Amino acid sequence: MVFLMLQDDLPSEINEPGFSEPAPRRQRPRRASMNVFGQLTSILAISAVLATLFTAFTPLGLLPAGLTEWVAEQLSGGSVAGSNFPTPTPRPRPVIGIVAGHWGNDSGAVCSDGLTEVEVNLDVATRVQQKLTDAGFDVDLLQEYDDRLQGYNALVLVSIHADTCEYIDDNATGFKVASSLASSAPEKAQRLVACISNRYQSATGMRYHPASITAHMSNYHTFNEIHHDTTAAIIETGFLNLDRQMLTQNSDGVADGIARGVLCYIYNESATSPEGN
Ligand SMILES: [Zn+2]
Repeated sequence: MVFLMLQDDLPSEINEPGFSEPAPRRQRPRRASMNVFGQLTSILAISAVLATLFTAFTPLGLLPAGLTEWVAEQLSGGSVAGSNFPTPTPRPRPVIGIVAGHWGNDSGAVCSDGLTEVEVNLDVATRVQQKLTDAGFDVDLLQEYDDRLQGYNALVLVSIHADTCEYIDDNATGFKVASSLASSAPEKAQRLVACISNRYQSATGMRYHPASITAHMSNYHTFNEIHHDTTAAIIETGFLNLDRQMLTQNSDGVADGIARGVLCYIYNESATSPEGN
């Protein structure tokens, strides 16, 4: 569309008085209006516009202002650049951290038939990592007490857990998302929570568990380890008892909800409507 508009608009503009080399409009037949000079100028102008558009459409160009500065800081050789980007590249991509809850430490909740929370978490986390990598980010898959979490500096960090496999009552179903109480930018953390909740609900059809967020979630140890600029949240994807089918048979949909929630936050999408609206 932009290209077509340029074709129509350019000839009259470049013939305006004051343009460096105007061709007298009236002395030429109309059909000859696109002379060689005009064509060259049009090509140059269109090239300039296209170059601008391509610049604007790189992943970094889509990032909110604060994130662009963050990336610039990383490129300038900030203290954490080495740990986030072990292999130097001309243009490192923004980093996202995904913690597979309990991985490398313990099994988490255990079901009577041997299914463990950690294997469910790791399956979902691995899928989230793949989806966000496909979306153009560098994604670290992290253990519960990963050495890299100390001072971890990233655009977003999400820790993935699931609730108990014990049968509690018929209301023990649904998911929860919480952010750190100690976040240096609580409004950012709340937006991340809103984005993940909204996208997760639409991807899985699960409901937000009515029980209040526990202190265990808000005071989650990882929130105190990571860099204070890293926006972080923890999700309990569901109960291993009543939501088991969703978490094990539809783990790709579960992962899709989390990945889309992270992208909703990064791209400043509305957290109350489906993406693109
Ligand atoms: Zn857990």
